[in-house]
Amino acid sequence: MHTHGQHHSRDDLATAAQGRLLAAGEQWTPLRAQVFAALAGFDRPVSAYDVTDAVSAAAGRRIAANSVYRILDLFVANNVAARVESANAFIANVHPDCPHDCIFLVCDRCGGATHVDDDRITGDVRAAAAATGFRPVRPVIEVRGICADCD
Ligand SMILES: [Zn+2]
Ligand SMILES: [Zn+2]
Ligand SMILES: [Zn+2]
Repeated sequence: MHTHGQHHSRDDLATAAQGRLLAAGEQWTPLRAQVFAALAGFDRPVSAYDVTDAVSAAAGRRIAANSVYRILDLFVANNVAARVESANAFIANVHPDCPHDCIFLVCDRCGGATHVDDDRITGDVRAAAAATGFRPVRPVIEVRGICADCD
């Protein structure tokens, strides 16, 4: 299993996310910064609606959900956030500088998510897809279950 020291604390995660977007030629607008701060403020995967509510509360005005959706998609495309498909939710990426097909472990009791990075497993999944002539873009591997805190 791949391990690395690139996991950021919440404090410098926004700085890493900003650097990542700027390096990709994207802007780090005030709204994008607010959306990232709101997302990173949650300790579990959250819906785009939850992020919109948090951003709106912090901004003191109603922010359009569509704007937040677009920003979340941009974050996912640039590896600063991840989609947890089985929860229809988003989570800040703790290793924005290190690309992986993250394998999410999602707790059915508390809704929390941790993840593991195992490039051998995800590489095998990509290879199996490619062997059929399919062009894999993003393997989605998630494990539902009970986290250590809830067990
Ligand atoms: Zn890594
Ligand atoms: Zn990961
Ligand atoms: Zn749990």
